[in-house]
Amino acid sequence: MQKISELFGSSLFNDKIMRVRLTKEVYIKLQRTINEGVPLEADAADEIANAMKNWALERGATHYTHWFQPMTGKTAEKHEALFITSNEGNAIEHFSGKSLIMGEGDASSFPNGGLRATFEARGYTVWDCTSPAFLKEKNGAITLCIPTAFCSYTGEALDKKTPLLRSIEALEKSSKRILKLFGSEPNRVFCTLGAEQEYFLIDKRLYQQRKDIIYTGRTLFGAPAPKGQDLSDHYYGSIKESISSFMSDLDIELWKLGIPVKTKHNEVAPGQHELAPIFTSVNIASDQNQMIMEALETIANRHNLVCLLHEKPFAGINGSGKHNNWSIATSEGINLLEPGETPRENTQFLVFLSAVIKAIDKYSELLRISASSYTNDYRLGGHEAPPAIISMFVGEQLEEVLQHIENDELMINKLAKKLESGVLTLPILKKDVTDRNRTSPFAFTGNKFEFRMVGSSQTIADPNIILNTIVVDVLNEFADKLEQSKNLPIDLQLLIRNTIKEHRRIIFNGNGYSEEWKKEAERRGLPILHTAVDAIPHFISEKAKNAFIKNKVLSESEIMSRYEIKLDDYVKRANIEATTMIHMYRKDIFPAVVEYVNLLSLSIINMKQTNLNVVVKPQERLLEQISSLLNDAEEAFILLQNYLKYANNTNNLLERSKLYRDEVLMSMRILRKPCDELELLVGKEYWPFPTYGDLLFRL
Ligand code: ADP
Ligand code: MG
Repeated sequence: MQKISELFGSSLFNDKIMRVRLTKEVYIKLQRTINEGVPLEADAADEIANAMKNWALERGATHYTHWFQPMTGKTAEKHEALFITSNEGNAIEHFSGKSLIMGEGDASSFPNGGLRATFEARGYTVWDCTSPAFLKEKNGAITLCIPTAFCSYTGEALDKKTPLLRSIEALEKSSKRILKLFGSEPNRVFCTLGAEQEYFLIDKRLYQQRKDIIYTGRTLFGAPAPKGQDLSDHYYGSIKESISSFMSDLDIELWKLGIPVKTKHNEVAPGQHELAPIFTSVNIASDQNQMIMEALETIANRHNLVCLLHEKPFAGINGSGKHNNWSIATSEGINLLEPGETPRENTQFLVFLSAVIKAIDKYSELLRISASSYTNDYRLGGHEAPPAIISMFVGEQLEEVLQHIENDELMINKLAKKLESGVLTLPILKKDVTDRNRTSPFAFTGNKFEFRMVGSSQTIADPNIILNTIVVDVLNEFADKLEQSKNLPIDLQLLIRNTIKEHRRIIFNGNGYSEEWKKEAERRGLPILHTAVDAIPHFISEKAKNAFIKNKVLSESEIMSRYEIKLDDYVKRANIEATTMIHMYRKDIFPAVVEYVNLLSLSIINMKQTNLNVVVKPQERLLEQISSLLNDAEEAFILLQNYLKYANNTNNLLERSKLYRDEVLMSMRILRKPCDELELLVGKEYWPFPTYGDLLFRL
């Protein structure tokens, strides 16, 4: 095997390759485009495209594609062969600067939430030169992938990348305003992001026998196996050979793409695993996370496995999340969420910290939405996942500091006396904050925030668009005030103190999984949004709209379209699940149970016919139990069908989604219960699909 240092980034058209393959002049021009957004001249684009093409051809590529992230949350691509034909009808390898920079496609079938009428359904993909082009290999087919943003003819964002890029720009501007007050003018300020990714692996042959997993990504039926995660013996357990070989292939594939995957381990649930790359700037981290999710699925398939990215594939055992580790850094290598060592740095840290505290409290509904989806609803509030209530953990040390700042009435006076230094001093915080709270949705972990609500199948663009926007909003508000200040040191103290005072209710350092916290959160008046349907309407509140529009992250129509897409996605996924259950019950479970019932009945008749002194009681009891459960199931089945019809006949999308949340999902639960009980009563060979035991323990 090659060394990691040789493999790493070998499928990337990265800076190293560009230095070699571009003329110095064009290389500098491209750097200016990447770093300063200066438009690229046509000649330079042609040269870059040509270099990219030659590099890709040498590596065996036949096609290129603009790779984008439509509002499905997945990635999309349309491949074009890297050639043109000559007048004589010969093929000539070719790739123009124009095709590199912009692509135009019909693409009318992506969800757009009314942003594009079909008659003007063109979508444009525009090169995002801040994220490197890469080669995707699929069983010998090699494609040059060019990361792009996707927008409409009128410039509206039709994807997840464009608003993310806008939020990154806004974060840079607002952070620079604050830093300037502290006399610091870094070249760039950007958001850093490390996304830990959890996933399940199951056997491909078993997967193929489960319609529910095929259509929905999770099990809709299934009795618990005798053993689940009770012993925690899977957590950090020794990795099985078959899984290890999969992980090793995955590592190699991801390293080639320049994705710095660093850690891997078994998670708590049987069949559950996690990987984490080293953090990088959020736009790249977001692209990389999409590549990771795709590679997980592709490489699992190569190993006769199926990777489940669903947030809750199995009832009763842990679900999967994606921990979104977020911070703000400067190009000079300063982490703005790192408590400083000097008074000046301390105060600066406290300004950023209090901005985050305020943002999370003021816009907690938005942050909740950023992790809201139909599938994540099954995970949030489970015993292993943060509840559907947003709160913040800052740790004991920092809590003490904050309390001190908040309570010290004399602080301002004291400070006034020593105005020359004039800044608040933090006791030096220990770098390695040992008190870790795993139950908080949003935890300060020493020099970054870890947002743990995000679902394993989600794009991290969503939570980071929102996180950036709400923090930007507060930073700008702070800057507006402070830039007018006649006495900056005093005003800084006041701002920090008042902010902490006003928003302290969002800080909770206790056990976020406990029942007491739910009650406490209610007392504090924190929004409790149990489901995605409860959360999504807050996306179009005046407060939310203002934050998006004012900070130029989303326009009014882009907000409305995303609101609609989110609700629509909820309804569609619920509909697919309900329909899958209906099929599985009627076409698989019902016939299987009838067959088994028949066997029992025949057994009773036959045994009685022998005229021997035999006991048929066991068969009779089982028969009674089974037929009674089958009757319960049949009633629930009828109920589900009726509610589904009723919901689908409701035109208003919000009303429909509420009907799904309340009625359809309830009847799905009612149908599942007797079916799962039946599974434990009906003979193994008669049951129509693999059980939890098979799926979780037969790898
Ligand atoms: P865990 O949360 O499992 O204890 P770590 O805290 O070591 O793991 O790191 C988790 C993730 O956080 C990794 O992807 C790591 O690169 C990332 N991370 C570390 N520092 C930062 C930072 N300043 N900004 C963003 N992400 C970071
Ligand atoms: Mg973590």
